[in-house]
Amino acid sequence: MDKSLAVITETLNGELTPASLECVEEGREVADRLGVRVRAILCGSEVARLAETLAAHGADAVTVVEHEALAQFSADGWLQALAPVLRALQPTLLLAPDSGQMRAWLPRLAARWHLPLVGCCIRVNVIGDGYPEIIRNTYGGACQERLVWPYATLVCALLIPGVRGAGAPRRDRTAAIDVLRPELDQTRFRDRTLRTLPADPRTVDLSEAERIISGGFGAGGPSGMALLQRLAEQMGAALGGTRVAADRGWLEVQRFIGSTGKIVAPKLYIAFGVSGAGQHLAGVTDAEWVVAVNNDRTAPMLKRADLAVVGDMHEILPLLLDKLQALAAAHSPDPAAPASPDPIRPVPVAAEPVSAPTVELYP
Ligand SMILES: Cc1cc2nc3c(=O)[nH]c(=O)nc-3n(C[C@H](O)[C@H](O)[C@H](O)COP(=O)(O)OP(=O)(O)OC[C@H]3O[C@@H](n4cnc5c(N)ncnc54)[C@H](O)[C@@H]3O)c2cc1C
Repeated sequence: MDKSLAVITETLNGELTPASLECVEEGREVADRLGVRVRAILCGSEVARLAETLAAHGADAVTVVEHEALAQFSADGWLQALAPVLRALQPTLLLAPDSGQMRAWLPRLAARWHLPLVGCCIRVNVIGDGYPEIIRNTYGGACQERLVWPYATLVCALLIPGVRGAGAPRRDRTAAIDVLRPELDQTRFRDRTLRTLPADPRTVDLSEAERIISGGFGAGGPSGMALLQRLAEQMGAALGGTRVAADRGWLEVQRFIGSTGKIVAPKLYIAFGVSGAGQHLAGVTDAEWVVAVNNDRTAPMLKRADLAVVGDMHEILPLLLDKLQALAAAHSPDPAAPASPDPIRPVPVAAEPVSAPTVELYP
């Protein structure tokens, strides 16, 4: 069998996760340097139709491991199904998204096989005669660590979701597809996923959030961040912010965005009192729509924004909250009931412009 680098992929609600596609693309770059093939491993039930997407993102070959017992994730199930596949494959490198699922089963495989397993990876490379080199975040993103193995060895690297973004698929690419249907002993599955709940915006990992309200030093302190949290709840968004806000203790450290924090790719990113330093902007390059509120019309964040509002966030925010609350009340089936934020079906954003005298659209 040709030498391959293996990428273990995963699905959510029947689709490949963006993090899986990023891993395939990262694997493609490393494989080209090593002169080996990229073999994507796809595990589940009725997932073979997704193999073409993996090819379009750079896989030379796809091994689909199908079994009805794998329709929902089970760490024991994946270990039982994939360990023999990987043993037969003898990959030169193992890549996977740094997700809860992967963290549930891959460390057990690594322990069994005495493999180095590295989480929080932001870059995977090979240097010299094929020595693995990994750059990873440590201390909650405060430091970056460079690891080099001084001999060619199989390393299992978990890549942080969103760290490189997935490129456009190339539909002209094809891959050799093998479908395996292993016999599994379901009585040895000690864990099962019964159902997957939609993410709660308050606690969702920022890299997976569809909407983000972000606060910077301009928020002025914990009370400013609490108002932003209220706005996030009204809009079904997650709260994030800058490293300065996190360093000052206004925001949980795992919720700051940027090159040393979370890399995010939401559909909507609204920044309040964020200057838009390069390290912060590096974390939002894949945001689809960016709105920024800043009282300094020269702030770089406004230049990155699709809608830039020059004004004092402490004047704008209460007006916006009142508007949203009024809208929520108007949409409430029981007019007597207080407007309650619904994290799953968010209240629509006010269509009318905010009538604050100090608000001026930029430029
Ligand atoms: C090695 C290194 C790594 C770093 N990594 C990161 C990272 O990953 N993420 C990150 O975010 N930062 C990072 N930083 C810090 C980064 O350089 C900036 O200092 C930081 O992003 C600035 O945060 P800020 O925008 O909250 O604060 P500031 O730069 O102080 O900006 C505050 C903004 O709020 C505006 N403002 C003030 N009052 C109001 C008001 N009432 N209404 C509206 N706007 C107002 C101001 O005009 C200003 O633009 C890193 C720095 C270093 C050296």
